Amino acid sequence: MTTPIRRGTRIAHFGVAVHALSDVLPFYRDVLDLPMVPLADADGARIAGLAAGDSLVELLEPAVAESPIAKFVDKRGPGIHHICFAVDDLDGTLAKAKAAGVELIDETPRIGAEGKRIAFLHPKSTGGVLIELSEY
Ligand code: ZN
Repeated sequence: MTTPIRRGTRIAHFGVAVHALSDVLPFYRDVLDLPMVPLADADGARIAGLAAGDSLVELLEPAVAESPIAKFVDKRGPGIHHICFAVDDLDGTLAKAKAAGVELIDETPRIGAEGKRIAFLHPKSTGGVLIELSEY
C-alpha cells in the first residue's frame, strides 16, 4: 500500500437542491459566469455542474420521485443540500470518522457523479450539514 500524497482537505463542491435546473442555472452560469462541467446523473438527480475555481457547484434536480433530492425539495424547499470535501485518504478519513462516533450514511465508498469514490456522513454528526467525502 502506498502512502497517500498529502494535498490537504479542500472543498470539492457543494450541492444545491432545486425544483428545476432551469430555475437557477442562468444565475450561476450567466450572472456568476461559471463554466459548465458535464456530470453524470446520480442518486435519482439530474446534475448541472459549474466550475468555481477548483471547486464545483452542483445543481441537483429531482429526476426520480422519492429520490433523496425529491424528498429534500418537497420537505424543505430549494437550498444547500450538501458540502463535499475532497480528502487525501478517503478510506482513512472514513475509518477516523467511524472511530470518532460519526454516523456514516455510506459505510464503504461508492462511485459519485464525478466518477470518483465518495461516501456521505450523517448531518446529525456534523452540525446539521450533510457532508460528502470524496477522493481527489
Ligand atoms: Zn455531491
